[in-house]
Amino acid sequence: MNLLLIGPPGSGKGTQGERLAERLGLDHIAAGDLLRGEVAAGTPLGKRVADLMERGELVPDEPIIELVLPRARRAAASHGYLLDGFPRSLEQARAAGQKLTAAELPTVVVYLDVPRDVLRRRILARAVVEGRADDNEETVENRLKVFADQTRPLVDHYREGGLLHVVDADRSPDEVTEAILRVLS
Ligand code: AMP
Repeated sequence: MNLLLIGPPGSGKGTQGERLAERLGLDHIAAGDLLRGEVAAGTPLGKRVADLMERGELVPDEPIIELVLPRARRAAASHGYLLDGFPRSLEQARAAGQKLTAAELPTVVVYLDVPRDVLRRRILARAVVEGRADDNEETVENRLKVFADQTRPLVDHYREGGLLHVVDADRSPDEVTEAILRVLS
């Protein structure tokens, strides 16, 4: 199985991604984590994207495609993948569609649905614990807007493709994990 997890910032995508990858024996590929790794290591790519990430903007397509697709290809050839944070726009989904074979593309898509006011609250609470540079009052609104404008259209795209499951993610992490496992079984 190649599982794609789509969710707005604060939907629990990272937490669920880690748990589900472990439970299902899939390779976890998290686009945001890969980028944060580049920033922390001070690579040329990290330097190029740090400011965009801090403002909650999407980084350019080409480097994120180069980071993610080889990993997705390798994972699809072995255990399958759990991909979170990519694609984040219809353009990225099209690029993946051109570069990957059918067997390397997502076979199931889960959308984590959470009301906007809950997302805002969760992100600001997480800011205190994790100290992420993009979890702050100024950036939160922009990240939610970027999601609504650029990433949300993917939900309809995958619904039309018959791959989509919508899961109510406005509940405890354990309940969300169990709900996702139920729709997958
Ligand atoms: P995340 O950890 O998934 O919330 O991602 C954190 C940040 O990394 C995003 O706000 C973007 O700046 C950047 N990012 C992650 N994935 C992508 C992607 N597929 N395309 C462009 N930018 C991305």
